[in-house]
Amino acid sequence: MNFTILTLFPEMFSALLVGGIVKRAVERQYISIEPINIRSFAKDRHRTVDDRPYGGGCGMVMKPEPLAEAIRHAREKHPEAYTLVLTPQGRLFNQQVAQELAGCAGLILVCGRYEGIDERVREDLVDDELSVGDYVLTGGELAAMVVIDAVSRLIPGTLGSERSAQEDSFSTGLLEYPQYTRPKSFEGSNVPEVLLSGDHNAIRRWRRQTSLVRTVLKRPDLLMDQPLTRDDIEFMKKLQQDINTIIGKQSIAS
Ligand code: SAM
Repeated sequence: MNFTILTLFPEMFSALLVGGIVKRAVERQYISIEPINIRSFAKDRHRTVDDRPYGGGCGMVMKPEPLAEAIRHAREKHPEAYTLVLTPQGRLFNQQVAQELAGCAGLILVCGRYEGIDERVREDLVDDELSVGDYVLTGGELAAMVVIDAVSRLIPGTLGSERSAQEDSFSTGLLEYPQYTRPKSFEGSNVPEVLLSGDHNAIRRWRRQTSLVRTVLKRPDLLMDQPLTRDDIEFMKKLQQDINTIIGKQSIAS
């Protein structure tokens, strides 16, 4: 998959190549990352990319001409790619959207700066808008890097084991189970016995059940539309009964 990034700060994307899975994916040619400077499409002597907003107000707006030319250039080079603009007003990026985007032939990511981009470019030259969260960044570059990182690790081959992406939080609809590594005992706290048992069925059951408990405690919203198995429901009913029993005993004692 090719990621073309239209930005005023192409050098920021070298951060993705410092190390880790994204760097390895580039080296192994599973992905390519191509930042393009929007400023190089500005025609005037000062290579101007911003201007004052019509109607007044503070801040500057990204001019339409250089940006439109940069998008057309990227689209000509990658006609199969999907063009996304990063904006706090966009569709909220999550694991499901990352999975959807991992199926695209290529992505063109448009990074705004200042007060954002001229509305006419957004209307005419962009396929979709993405937000990485309900907060405002100073530019789209960090947001684009979030998208590149999350999408890259879903492209077959980029992770050592494809199973690890399938079991991650959100991929199963639940948060991931707790993880442990050596030593068996750390500062008086031990690894759960079941993980040392070698009983793969018991380990699978424990992982599913701890995932369910974590999700109920930390992100119950994720479970509202999540299809659960018969075993999941039995486990949760048992948990509910245990909690009711504990509460019942408390009220008798007090
Ligand atoms: N005035 C804009 C608004 O209120 O919607 C915010 C502009 S912001 C200061 C500058 C640029 O940062 C945006 O054009 C966008 O590319 C990027 N940006 C800021 N927050 C973002 C977010 N939550 N998700 C994606 N991109 C974001």
